[in-house]
This record gives sequence, C-alpha cells and structure tokens, in this order.
Amino acid sequence: NAATLEDTVRRLRLGERATLAKAMTLVESNHPRHQPLSTQLLDAIMPFTGNALRLGITGTPGAGKSTFLEAFGMLLIRHGLRVAVIAVDPSSPVSGGSILGDKTRMTELARAESAFIRPVPSSGHLGGASQRARELMLLCEAAGFDVVIVETVGVGQSETEVAGMVDCFISLQIAGGGDDLQGIKKGLMEMADLVVINKDDGENHTSVAIARHMYESALHILRRKYDEWQPRVLTCSALEKRGIEEIWQAITDFKTCLTASGRLEKVRQQQAVDWLHQQAEEEALHLLFARADFDRYFQQTLQAVKNNDLSPRTGLRHISEFIQHHYFQ
Ligand code: GDP
Repeated sequence: NAATLEDTVRRLRLGERATLAKAMTLVESNHPRHQPLSTQLLDAIMPFTGNALRLGITGTPGAGKSTFLEAFGMLLIRHGLRVAVIAVDPSSPVSGGSILGDKTRMTELARAESAFIRPVPSSGHLGGASQRARELMLLCEAAGFDVVIVETVGVGQSETEVAGMVDCFISLQIAGGGDDLQGIKKGLMEMADLVVINKDDGENHTSVAIARHMYESALHILRRKYDEWQPRVLTCSALEKRGIEEIWQAITDFKTCLTASGRLEKVRQQQAVDWLHQQAEEEALHLLFARADFDRYFQQTLQAVKNNDLSPRTGLRHISEFIQHHYFQ
C-alpha cells in the first residue's frame, strides 16, 4: 500500500542496504504479483535518480575485471565516494553456466561499508539481465551512490546494451593472444570512451606498449563518438594497483568535458528514448504474434515461401495486407 511504498522510498533514500537489496529483488522478480509494486516503486524513485556517475566496464573473461574493480572501487572509497557495482552475468551460450562467477570476486570491496555489489544472473536470454541492470542502477542512484558501475562480459548483445545505459563506457583489454584485434574488429572501439589495457606488469610491458599503440592508431582512424572527446588508451596493473588513479582522472576529465558541452544530458535523454523505442517495437511484435490468427497466417505464408509457391516479396505483401485488414480497419 501507499504507506509501505513511501516508507520504502524513505529508507532507500537514507541508503539503507537491506532496503536496497529488497527493492532490487522486487524489481528483478518476474512474478506477475510483484509487477504493480515494482512499477510503483520505480515511478516513485524517479525524481531521486540521475545523480550518480554511470560507468560501464566490459572485458573478456580473465581480462581482470573483478581485480580491477576491487582496486578501482577501493580508490573511489578513499576519495570519499560511495560505489555500487552491478555485475551483469550473461550465462555462457555454450555451457549455460555463469561466466562472471562470484566466489572470490571483489572480496575487499564486498566488505566495504561504502560499497554495494549486486550480481544480476542471466534470465535465460541475453537481453534480460542487462535490461534489469538499468532499473537496478536507478535504485542505486536513489540510494545515494555517487558512482554506479555496470560490469559485463564481452558476449553477445550485453555490451551494446550496457553502453546504452551509462555515461562512460570502458573497455578493459589485455595485450597479446590476438584479443587485441578482436576488440577492434567487433565494433567495440566505436562504443568505448576509454580503453584500458590491464596487466601492464612483469614481462608484459612490451606487448602492452605494442597493444596500446595499436589501439591508439585504431581510435584515430575511427569516427569519433563525440566531437568533443577523443577516446584515450590507458594502461594499468590491477594486480599491483598501478595506473588506477590515472584512470579515475581520465573518467573525471571525460565527465567534465561532456558536462561542459551539455552533451551528457543529451546522451542520457537519447538513451531513454532509444530504450523506449526498442521496447515498444518488441512489445508490438509480441502482441502481434500472441494473436493465434496472425501466427497461423504467418506460418502458412512462411511455408508457402519455403515451397516456392510464393515469392518472399508477395509473402510480405500478404502478411502486410492481413495485418491491415484484421487490425487497422
Ligand atoms: P575477470 O574474469 O575479468 O573478472 O578477471 P579476474 O579479475 O578474475 O582476473 C583473472 C586473472 O587475471 C586472475 O588470475 C587475476 O589474478 C589475474 N589478473 C588480474 N589483473 C591482473 C594484473 O593487473 N596483472 C596480472 N599479472 N594479472 C592480473
């Protein structure tokens, strides 16, 4: 009821961890019974969102994401900031199992009073987890966190989706192993505001320097994401906790630069619009295919095209006419 909702929002805004955890569980729930309440909660917190710096970080398994986030998160805490980490875990398309794993990840950060870590397990399809991450991010903002980090593995759609919900998107890479080229090939570079090459320690110095040069060259050739920001390539050793402060400085520079030009606000607006656009399309398709008559007609048409009884173009015309005749008359 209204009184509990109000109380939940009040407690959330005080930054109560237990309330935040409970609110997240509610928002994550797929149970129809929880839908009205979670919708109300999200509506109620909207005025208190938007105040955090939203960071996205991606990298292949083993790149050192959790080691980096541990060092980076502790640094932010030393700067007096409260940090939330939302770890989107798309399950492996091959094994179906968790990719991030959570046994020994970020142990120091997990114990810190000023930090909150939340794994988001896969819901079976890849889009699901990152979808919910956006709403969990809003809850963290209402709870007063200064920096919200959404972490994801470089698999499928999740990178694009995370890039579409944060202010600053960081690609964590390692040198060698041909991984360097993959980042460039996959279109990841177009999304990255910062490229960080991790494991710049021990015998890796030379290969890291080569990789750095390669990324810098690639970034100079590519079309810029924002006119006012040239993506930077930085190196660090998450293990030895070197180069972490410089990364925070670069993130701060990025934020200052995009805030000054008014770009950050526009980016956030566009992200919300894009999100609604995409969801609306999915919803429309979902509603259409939920109609038994349409689904049957669609399947028949597919079969006819398969048998060469109809050209694909005519098949499309039939489907279009069916939709117009049945639903738009
Ligand atoms: P994640 O899968 O991306 O979260 O990677 P982890 O943080 O679990 O790290 C994978 C492995 O790389 C672990 O054995 C880490 O100890 C190691 N590692 C992480 N960062 C560094 C680093 O800066 N230097 C070196 N040499 N090893 C690192």
